[in-house]
Amino acid sequence: MNFDYSEKVKQLQKKVNDFMDEYIYPNEKVYHEQLDKNDPFSKIPPIMEELKEKAKQAGLWNLFLPESEYGAGLTNLEYAPLCEIMGRSAIAPEVFNCAAPDTGNMEVIVRYGTEEHKEKWLKPLLNGEIRSCFSMTEPDVASSDATNIQASIIRDGDEYVINGTKWWSSGAGDPRCKIAIVMGKNDPNAPSHEQQSMILVPLDTPGVKIKRLLPVFGYDHAPHGHAEIEYNNVRVPASNILWGEGKGFAIAQGRLGPGRIHHCMRTIGAAERALEEMCKRVQSRVAFGKKLADQGVIQDWIAEARIDIEQARLLTLKAAYMMDTVGNKEAKGEIAMIKVIAPNMALKIIDRAIQAFGAAGVSEDTPLAASWANIRTLRLADGPDEVHKRAIARYELKKYR
Ligand SMILES: Cc1cc2nc3c(=O)[nH]c(=O)nc-3n(C[C@H](O)[C@H](O)[C@H](O)COP(=O)(O)OP(=O)(O)OC[C@H]3O[C@@H](n4cnc5c(N)ncnc54)[C@H](O)[C@@H]3O)c2cc1C
Repeated sequence: MNFDYSEKVKQLQKKVNDFMDEYIYPNEKVYHEQLDKNDPFSKIPPIMEELKEKAKQAGLWNLFLPESEYGAGLTNLEYAPLCEIMGRSAIAPEVFNCAAPDTGNMEVIVRYGTEEHKEKWLKPLLNGEIRSCFSMTEPDVASSDATNIQASIIRDGDEYVINGTKWWSSGAGDPRCKIAIVMGKNDPNAPSHEQQSMILVPLDTPGVKIKRLLPVFGYDHAPHGHAEIEYNNVRVPASNILWGEGKGFAIAQGRLGPGRIHHCMRTIGAAERALEEMCKRVQSRVAFGKKLADQGVIQDWIAEARIDIEQARLLTLKAAYMMDTVGNKEAKGEIAMIKVIAPNMALKIIDRAIQAFGAAGVSEDTPLAASWANIRTLRLADGPDEVHKRAIARYELKKYR
């Protein structure tokens, strides 16, 4: 086993780190200041487009995509440490065109889209000109079990007609969001995993209505947002279907593997940032006659944080390596494990960093509170912990049947 990154990856790590130091961290505040306070979903802070241009020029663009004809052609294992660095800042993934949900959606179109889909939607997504959302979850059913999905996608001549209400369609609040990948049922009588399809729905199609944007612990995540969307007799050309009728579940499995591991990579970056913030703070703050850093309990938090991060990173890299070598399907156990471990690990570290900061930790003067709120959602999004644990237990039990 080789635990070292390749020379190519080390150089890219340096490049991404240098970019973060020069352009990302100094502009985090600028980005938030440039949001329109009266209508934060109305426009994109200009600094974002400026930074995207710089990342493109630096060759740090679409690093997530293993397909070299469209992206950087990095393996999952090569991308992992770079994605981790991006995860240190809430604004960074978009700057490098490596943000969810676009990355997962682009991967779907690369793998299951037609040439027409690629020309119309993949190209502008790869160029960072538009954004996209993924509409699977529904308010009326337990959506962690995707067989419950009720929205319908019914063929009518040369078109499909879509009906249903979705929520938590992340990114749909963004004025640049032009396309949704919608999951629904086309045949409720087919076997349970062949009833669903996925279809491309331009957001300006008549019948698509954004009903509201849902906050996360009070954060609106503008201009991105998490939307409740009504699809009411929405008609799109039949050619908008992805792969074919009944393939929705199979696409979801393919989409969620890379999407999940990217979340984990970024989460490790967020944990590293929290640990760094904590270490700096406790060395400059004095209480009861000594630095906080000299308190045994704080040293214990720091040591545990380092141990936990190293463990989570190693399992993430193992999952990435397996995705590259034996395929996403064979790596599903490791992906499920890391999807449980990474957010829980980061939440513990961020919570302790908040504690070490005192009241400042829950304010917006540090990135910690927003980071905690964001990562807490990852214990639900892309599958709740319990659902992943159920899968892991089943793989384990199967060995002894
Ligand atoms: C910030 C955020 C962004 C999101 N972005 C998107 C997006 O872009 N697109 C999209 O389609 N969805 C998105 N989601 C939705 C997310 O994927 C769902 O919330 C998730 O799949 C769970 O579905 P649910 O909310 O219907 O919970 P339910 O299915 O109702 O489950 C509720 C709880 O039941 C428990 N549970 C479920 N199954 C089991 C089990 N087998 N064993 C034990 N306990 C169990 C779990 O604790 C679970 O949290 C997002 C969610 C959040 C919070």
